[in-house]
Amino acid sequence: MTSELAVDDLVVRFPLRSAMVARLLGRTSEVLTAVDGLSFTVPPGESVAVVGESGCGKSTLARCLVGLQAPTAGRIRLGGQVLPRRRTRGDRRRIQMVFQDPSSSLNPTMTVATMLAELLHVHDLARGDQVRARVAELLELVQLPGRIAAAYPRDLSGGQRQRIGIARALALEPEVLVADEAVAALDASVQASVLNLFAELRARLGLTLIFISHDLAAVRHVADRVMVMYLGAVVEDRPAESLFTDPQHPYTQALLDAAPRLDRRLGDEPSLPGEPPSPVALPSGCRFHPRCIHAIDHCRETEPVLTGPSATDRTACHLAWRDTHERR
Ligand code: SF4
Repeated sequence: MTSELAVDDLVVRFPLRSAMVARLLGRTSEVLTAVDGLSFTVPPGESVAVVGESGCGKSTLARCLVGLQAPTAGRIRLGGQVLPRRRTRGDRRRIQMVFQDPSSSLNPTMTVATMLAELLHVHDLARGDQVRARVAELLELVQLPGRIAAAYPRDLSGGQRQRIGIARALALEPEVLVADEAVAALDASVQASVLNLFAELRARLGLTLIFISHDLAAVRHVADRVMVMYLGAVVEDRPAESLFTDPQHPYTQALLDAAPRLDRRLGDEPSLPGEPPSPVALPSGCRFHPRCIHAIDHCRETEPVLTGPSATDRTACHLAWRDTHERR
């Protein structure tokens, strides 16, 4: 049974220089804004991709969701219950993370069976004969043969290690799975099979999936909905099909243009103009204006809000929802 996930006005700031040191140096204290007031809800069983360039705040959001990062302000609710800053073991079980590098979370001295059994024991989820049966069930869930139970991490391929990472998360029977760049380190063919596995797990277990990715193309076939983040804020939040066929935000358009395509030669991909500004000094008005080819004076002065036909079909751009030729 899964529940609605809600994020309310989430803010994460990191002080770069403490107030006391700043006073001693006669300078102002600097603060890096990683997440700048995110609010969204995810219905049970939905698959949402959170996409953006490195440093846009998507991984900080992921860490907040699983309780590894305490927010500066705002709250996260699951099924209407506010998850506390210091999560209990029961709270942590409800939202689990699959990491980019599964090797770092796999103990090299333990077999797969021992690792999974230990997890089941610690969380009191199986005892005695139930443990062996549950380990077999978890391996079957992630589509690995039963003999893998006796293997050590060094015996496994990258794709198999990632499947064990997913099995570890599933062992705790979560309601929400957060996959943080979970296929980024895998070969293209293995990426596709692991993404298919996520889609099948979601259908079979009714899980809510949050995919964190820098790669829009990679999430195209697994996400119902895509949220595009830029400098700590969501700038476009749309059903996947609409976003890919009719992007409204110039940043989303630029990300799509920059994605590798079969009909382009390697190296011909247009790159996004410029670098993201420093998250220590966010631009005035629209945070994308220094890189936006459509920017007008109003963009430099007034921050656009997320608006659109519905709460899950929104874009933060003064020129969104106009005819394409009006924006060019
Ligand atoms: Fe570009 Fe203006 Fe839209 Fe921002 S609000 S994305 S600067 S057109």
